[in-house]
Amino acid sequence: MNKKVVLLAGLVLAVLVVWQLGWLDALTFDNLKQQQANLMAMRDAQPLMVSVVYLLIYVGVTALSLPGAAIMTLAGGAIFGLGWGLLLVSFASTLGATLAMLVSRFFLRDWVKQRFSHSMKKLDDGVEREGAFYLFALRLVPAFPFFVINLAMGLTRMKIWTFWWVSQVGMLVGTAVYVNAGTQLAQLQSPSDILSIQLLGAFVLLGVFPLLARKALEIYKSRQALRQWKKPAHFDTNLVVIGAGSGGLVSAYIAAAVKAKVVLVEKHQMGGDCLNTGCVPSKALIRSAKLAHEMRHADHYGLKSQQPEVDFAAVMDRIHAVIAEIEPHDSVERFTGLGVDVRQGSAKLISPWEVEITLNTGEMQRVTTRSIILATGAEPFVPDLPGLDKVDYLTSDNLWQLRDLPKRLLVLGGGPIGCELTQAFQRLGSQVTQVERGERLMAREDEDASQLVMQHFRQEGVDLRLQHQALRFEVTGDKKYLIAQKVAGEEVSIEFDRVVIAVGRKPRLRGYGLEELGLLPEEAKTLDTLDTNNYLQTIYPNIFACGDLIGPFQFTHAASHQAWHATVNALFGDFKKFAVDYRFLPWATFTDPEVARVGLNEQEAKEQGIDYEVTTYGIDDLDRAIADGQAYGFVKVLTQQGKDKILGVTLVGPHSGDLIAEFVLAMKHGLGMNKLLGTIHIYPTMTEANKFAAGNWKKAHAPETVLGWLQKFHQWRLK
Ligand SMILES: Cc1cc2nc3c(=O)[nH]c(=O)nc-3n(C[C@H](O)[C@H](O)[C@H](O)COP(=O)(O)OP(=O)(O)OC[C@H]3O[C@@H](n4cnc5c(N)ncnc54)[C@H](O)[C@@H]3O)c2cc1C
Repeated sequence: MNKKVVLLAGLVLAVLVVWQLGWLDALTFDNLKQQQANLMAMRDAQPLMVSVVYLLIYVGVTALSLPGAAIMTLAGGAIFGLGWGLLLVSFASTLGATLAMLVSRFFLRDWVKQRFSHSMKKLDDGVEREGAFYLFALRLVPAFPFFVINLAMGLTRMKIWTFWWVSQVGMLVGTAVYVNAGTQLAQLQSPSDILSIQLLGAFVLLGVFPLLARKALEIYKSRQALRQWKKPAHFDTNLVVIGAGSGGLVSAYIAAAVKAKVVLVEKHQMGGDCLNTGCVPSKALIRSAKLAHEMRHADHYGLKSQQPEVDFAAVMDRIHAVIAEIEPHDSVERFTGLGVDVRQGSAKLISPWEVEITLNTGEMQRVTTRSIILATGAEPFVPDLPGLDKVDYLTSDNLWQLRDLPKRLLVLGGGPIGCELTQAFQRLGSQVTQVERGERLMAREDEDASQLVMQHFRQEGVDLRLQHQALRFEVTGDKKYLIAQKVAGEEVSIEFDRVVIAVGRKPRLRGYGLEELGLLPEEAKTLDTLDTNNYLQTIYPNIFACGDLIGPFQFTHAASHQAWHATVNALFGDFKKFAVDYRFLPWATFTDPEVARVGLNEQEAKEQGIDYEVTTYGIDDLDRAIADGQAYGFVKVLTQQGKDKILGVTLVGPHSGDLIAEFVLAMKHGLGMNKLLGTIHIYPTMTEANKFAAGNWKKAHAPETVLGWLQKFHQWRLK
């Protein structure tokens, strides 16, 4: 039997025994009054012994959350007087409370965590940030039963030491009042005489005090940050948005939609990375590559396979044509039409309310503003590898200017960008070698997802070099080499024609006033993002940030999601602020097979100690996938143990980035596997994969007993 269950049974038994023996009956107000003289005589005879016994009983009562702590506290005063009584009670009550908290943590925390994993994470984060304040407030207000507080805190991740000292200090005033009342026991008619309404009111005020103090501290800190700067008497605009990428455009759009005066500054290209060097060109490239791949394998569909003649310059021209076609969505004209004051130039923070703009024409302008949103994005991180400057390397920034298809392409990095580019170039005809220092590609995803992608890459001819650490580049004549180290220490030399560096993205933190305003910690590392709170505020309450600059998810839709919060908080935060929530943020990597995800995957659930069930459905079984000749991949759903609540989904296979939307909706609105199963899906579509996954979950949770009875019922009906 489970060790915890045995221990819990023992504990319950101990409480029942104490109860049955009637020991708790002694802990009444009247009994204490009757026995006071005897207890004092005992104290006079054996002061140390009586103190120790009193302490142990007190600790036992509070640790087991038994009723009687208030009477014990009065008794402390009645027997030992104010000084010694207060000392004893203060330590006994804190020790007992801490033990009660630990008992609750030992028996209940895992159980609660498994059932309410999302809420527990939020609670833990909250407790870590401000748990001490809340505990202090609760301790000061006697309206909250202490035993409930002990048990509740046990469910959180509060440190034992924090719990101890906050409890000791927080309970001190209340304890003193009760111990003091105990010294006047003869004059008291009932325990209710101790707490007058006025006294209770004073306690409540005391309890609320730390929270008010905290708020005041926050206001003080932000005032301090702002104090050194002169606030303009008048603002030219409500909002300045710096950067017109995914985050900045959405911010400016929302601000203009709610009729705020907004200035949007972009120093390079409207649309930022997503339109010009990221999502759009990469997906256009992938489309050409997919067609080339299909031409090569046309015989799978009864057509003659062909070795595609790739006109790489034309592929690139198409990519630029696609960008040009989408460009108007993000253009100066469109945003000006929406009411945004777009300025093309470079912005620099001068103060928390003032932005200097160096227009592309060379003209300088200054704009005073009530709020600022930083949406300056990120750029490819280029590691400091010896010899890199000699190999004319490519990154996602300059790759789109290529006119010739590299014969041998080296891709450094096994993350989403590296993987998408690897497969696209391999399909277009390059011989791609992909170098990754980890054990597998897309390390953030589950192992089975990575494995399926790697299997496809290898089948398509990609030379995958895993567990290879890039050391340096060497050039001999017109030959270029990467020297990499394998795990065993052996060095290998990989020859290439062009290399793409795709080892991460570096937030744009420098050169536009963040350092001068003290927004960057001195020890900021290269890949560090800008710090904001949950409302996306920086240390200056009127400077907000969104997008790749702040992470933690560097996607266009993450930037837009944050932009809404940053803008609404910037414009209306004085009345109501909204905390950003990433629980239902999905993403996809557009390799073939596509890998899409929302919520937890298995590796995260394990790391966080969350008890989950896994249901999978193999897309190789799906009619539409078979008809399309794309029968590979899977749907993997993590659900709460014994419930149909969806904790996370990993989808691997064709169109995963689209199929995941149904799960995002379900999770966001609390719909479980039963609801998914009860929803009609069109036949034959890929979306049926979602429903069949729900069907597999249902089969695994079939009510066997009821089905047994039903079988008997039907057999009986045959008679
Ligand atoms: C190859 C690749 C493929 C990608 N594919 C996808 C995908 O499929 N799906 C997805 O969701 N995401 C994808 N991304 C990520 C996506 O592009 C980014 O998450 C998104 O662009 C972030 O938007 P942002 O507004 O934070 O920054 P950005 O788009 O980088 O915009 C920041 C803008 O700020 C401007 N700026 C910076 N400093 C200043 C200044 N001082 N003054 C004025 N202007 C300034 C910059 O010029 C830039 O235009 C991809 C990225 C890459 C590189």
